[in-house]
Order: sequence, then structure tokens, then C-alpha cells
Amino acid sequence: MLYHEPVADGPGCAPSTYLMQRLQGIAVSPGVAIGEALIIDNEGFRIPRRFVARDAVQDELERLRQAIEAVGREIERNRDAVASQLGDQYGAIFSAHLQILLDQQLNGQLTELIREQHYSPEYAVSRTLRQYAKVFQSLDNSPHAELANDIFDIEQRLLRNLLGRPREELSQLSSPVIVLAHSLTPSEAANLDREKVLGFATETGGPGGHTAIVAEALELPAVVGTGRFLADVSGGELVIVDGDQGQVILRPDEETIARYRHEVEEHRALAVRLELLRDLPATTADGTPIQIDANIEFPGEVEACAARGAQGIGLYRTEFLFLSCNAEPDEEVHYQAYARVVHAMKDLPVVIRTVDLGADKIGAGLRTDQGDNPELGLRSIRLSLRNLPQFRTQLRAVLRASAIGNVRLMFPLITTLQELRRARAVLAEVMQDLEDEAIPFDRNLSVGMMVEVPGVVIMLERFLEEVDFISIGTNDLIQYALAVDRGNRDVVTLYNAGDPAVLRLIDLALTAARRADVPAALCGQMSGNTIYAMILLGLGLRQFSVPPSAILEIKKITRSVTLSQCQALARRAMQLDNARDVNVLLKDEMRKVAPELALFA
Ligand code: PEP
Ligand code: MG
Repeated sequence: MLYHEPVADGPGCAPSTYLMQRLQGIAVSPGVAIGEALIIDNEGFRIPRRFVARDAVQDELERLRQAIEAVGREIERNRDAVASQLGDQYGAIFSAHLQILLDQQLNGQLTELIREQHYSPEYAVSRTLRQYAKVFQSLDNSPHAELANDIFDIEQRLLRNLLGRPREELSQLSSPVIVLAHSLTPSEAANLDREKVLGFATETGGPGGHTAIVAEALELPAVVGTGRFLADVSGGELVIVDGDQGQVILRPDEETIARYRHEVEEHRALAVRLELLRDLPATTADGTPIQIDANIEFPGEVEACAARGAQGIGLYRTEFLFLSCNAEPDEEVHYQAYARVVHAMKDLPVVIRTVDLGADKIGAGLRTDQGDNPELGLRSIRLSLRNLPQFRTQLRAVLRASAIGNVRLMFPLITTLQELRRARAVLAEVMQDLEDEAIPFDRNLSVGMMVEVPGVVIMLERFLEEVDFISIGTNDLIQYALAVDRGNRDVVTLYNAGDPAVLRLIDLALTAARRADVPAALCGQMSGNTIYAMILLGLGLRQFSVPPSAILEIKKITRSVTLSQCQALARRAMQLDNARDVNVLLKDEMRKVAPELALFA
């Protein structure tokens, strides 16, 4: 996946750090962002711009000397404190740190980088110590590999001292930046300062992870899973994140910047053209009405949904109430969030999904020990059924919201009928409580479930007898059907919505729902991906629930095609035996019906 393509930006002997570098990762949120890098390493430090003025070199060397002295004193204090409590042998750990810090070779190198290359002390420290650490890291299984952590520790102490500030506050930035990080959790992504962060790229992560989903919700261009590159870039350098093609370009040259600026303009022009569709019906060219709802993670997204003509909220991922704040939300916090969404959508349906915490979504009120296989462990509805007070609190708030609008309730990751029945039984108890307390709610509230476990698809006709609607969650369905972690870059080529096995599961689910006359939506990321719109229509999907940014694109395709055209395409695609051929066919067809969308697909 990863390739580096160094391009010299000047004649002669430019060192490699001056060169443009292009990294290939996984495109997870469309659009292009151009801006200065803000680098977040594991400790959350910004590694600042690397050059200092020629006449400032002496002052910078002095700053480094003082930092080394201060860190030396800090380590000595730690050594003495530990030695007095645990004995000298433990204090010796810190003596080793001190030796590294004061090592003449290391200090000579740092001085040379500042004096000769005009690097800032921060950059010189970060670069040099990371190089040292890498050498130790490469000694697999050797006790010396542990030394890498000691070196990182010294680096962090020096940076903390040089920067004079403990941690980067990602939620309060002073200027526009592109965040480059080893990894970002969904809750870190959810808390990014939306005014200042233009886009982000991470070394880890996969196409179906919730960090990717948050990026789409925030409408931030994003690339994940690039593999290691943070050691090659400094804070303040210019970076481009191409969320359409999954590329990250470090230190782009003039020609590349100009090309991408042009692409940004094309994106804007397309968005303006698509806006014209806002009030037109989402009907196929031969007259079949299609429902296009939106997926949201934050109540604040609802205005964008209404502005783009969403016909409802097909999936409200309420777990982000837990991920966006440090405390577990109480009933009132739940209720206020739901009320805001319901009011903004007026009489349109709002499907509130009960919390789907666990796996990569870890927030307030959730223990972090999730076992070795969190995606297969105690997550989602399984967790809710183990934490009934929390589950009841949420159900009360959903029921109260049902009194003020068109609310529907959905349970995630249902795997067995017993689970569904238990969840419904808890709901019935909570309804009874509200009735006893004379609190109004909708007694006929529609109750549905996500279909995202292959076993459920096989048994679906039994589940359909006990729910009012279903929504197919392809993000998880792909992961469980193909045994491939949705958030892991190493298996990204296997994680594919075009895989024939996935298409057959969707076909089975839609057919069962049609027979049982139960409404079926599809709310995985696949539904907002333009290349799959035609095959989904051809397989019988009539209700899409997509990220808000994709509403008008899916409407554009819907209005450009006939059902018979889509059915013919679905028949052809279902004959193919691998995801690559399916995707080539679908992309070609999409190019024909909506060439302007294909530009960015
Ligand atoms: C899905 O699995 O497709 C889905 C919509 O749920 P989530 O992405 O929140 O797991
Ligand atoms: Mg899911």
C-alpha cells in the first residue's frame, strides 16, 4: 500500500527532508485539504518547524543546553526519590537515562544540526532521538529493544521542556492545520476543533473504522493507514491530504499545489451544481420513489442534513454522546440531544439507535478491558444488556423524545432472537415506568434492528416477525462475513463492499424483507459510495441512509438511472466471482451515468 516517491524540488544536493514525498493510504473522507502540518505523536506533542535564523543559532544552542540541564535535574530527582523508596537498583534505571541524556556523541550531533543545518532545537532533538530509538527498535526480541522506550522518554522530557507546554490541545487551536498522527481514536477525532482542522491523516486505521466515519461526519478530508511517515515531516511544513485518492503529499512542489488548488475549485463547483437537486424528488428516471435519509453522529449535523434535503435521519449513532464528553450522559443530556434533532427534522422520521459502544468506540462509562478480540466481544447491544441502568436511561430519553416528533428506535448488532426479545422486554418495562409517572411517549413507537451479523441474515425471516423495520449495517456485515477487521490497514484489500459474498448477503436480506413486507434500509458507508448506488437499487433497495455529504450525490445517480438498467447491472455483477471485477464493472457504469461524480470516485 505504502510507497514513497521523493521528488527533488531543486537542483543539486538537497537533503531528503526537502523533497516532496507522496504517501499512499486509504481514502476515507472525500475532498482535498492543503495546509500546515500539526504533528501529534503518541505523547500528543507538536514537533515544531525545523529552521532557525542564522543569527539566532547561539541563542538556540543555549536554549538546548538549559533544557538538557533542566531535564538532567528532573531525572536526578526521580532517581533519588525511587532509590530511597525502592532501593538503589531501581534508581539505576534513571541513571541510565541520565547517561543517554549527557552522552557526548548525542550532544555533539544535536549541536551540529542546530549550528550547521539551522534546525530548531525541538526538531533536532526529535529527529535525532527518534533515529536512535529506531535503531534499538529494530533489534527484535533483544533486551536492547526496550531501550527504545527509554530514548522516547528522554525525547518527550526534552520536548516538554523546550516547548514549555505539556500537551497539544486539539480542541483549541490557534491557526488552521492539517493533523498528522500515528492514530486517532474516534473520540479524539470527534473532539477536533472543526474551525481550525482542515483535514487529517493517520499512519494506522482502516476503511470501516469509526475514526473514518467521524471524518465523514465532520466533512474533513481524511486518509488513514498510510504506514509510518511521521518521522519524515515537521510541524509547519506544507501538506496536502487528498481524501479522494487516499494520498498524503508532504512538502508539495508548486505544480502539485496548483493542481490540487484546481481540484478544490472543481469540488466547490460540483457542490454548487448538486445543490440544485436539493428540492427535487429522489425518484428514478422511470418514476420509482427512493428514500434518501442521513446518518448522523452529532446533533449539530442535522442542519446540514436538512439543508441537503435529507428525507429523514436513518441512523443516529448515539454513542457519540459518550465519546464527545468525559462523563457518562444522564437522561437529560440524552433527551436534549434527541429533542434538538427531532425539532430540526420537523415531522420527518428520526431513527435513534441505542448505544453501540465497544471495539474502537470507547468512551465515558465503558471499561477498557475488552478482551483480545474486541470486535467479537462485549460490544454494542451485548454491553447495553449487561448495563441495564445505562440502557434504561437511554430508553427513557428516546421514549420522551417520541412524544415530540417522528422517532423510531433501533437496536444495534442483534445476533440472536433472545437478545432482541430481551431488549424489547426492557423497553416494555421502561414504557410501563413512564406510564406510571404520567410522562408522555409514543405507545406505537416503531422498533427496528440493525442487520450486521451474517448469521442474522440467514435467519432473517424469523427476526422480521418481531420488528417493524431493519437497517443493513454493511460496515460490520463486511467485517463479519469476510473475517476482516474493518479498522486494520493490513487487510484493507479484503475489506470490500463489492465482494460477491457481501452482495449475496445483501440480496438475501432485501429479498426476505420484501417477502415479509418489512421496510429495509441500508446505512453502512457503502450506501453513500456512489459506485454502489446502482447495484443496490437493482437488488431492490429503496431506502438509503448515507453520510450527509453524500445525500445529493446519491440523489443525482438515482435520478439519472432507470430501475431496469440497475436490475440488469445487478444481474451482471452477481455473475462475477471477485470484488475487483465487480468494482471495475460498477465504476464503469457509474462513469457513464454520472461522469461528473466519477471524477472524484
Ligand atoms: C454498520 O455497521 O454498517 C453501521 C452502520 O454501524 P457502525 O458503523 O456504527 O458500526
Ligand atoms: Mg455496525
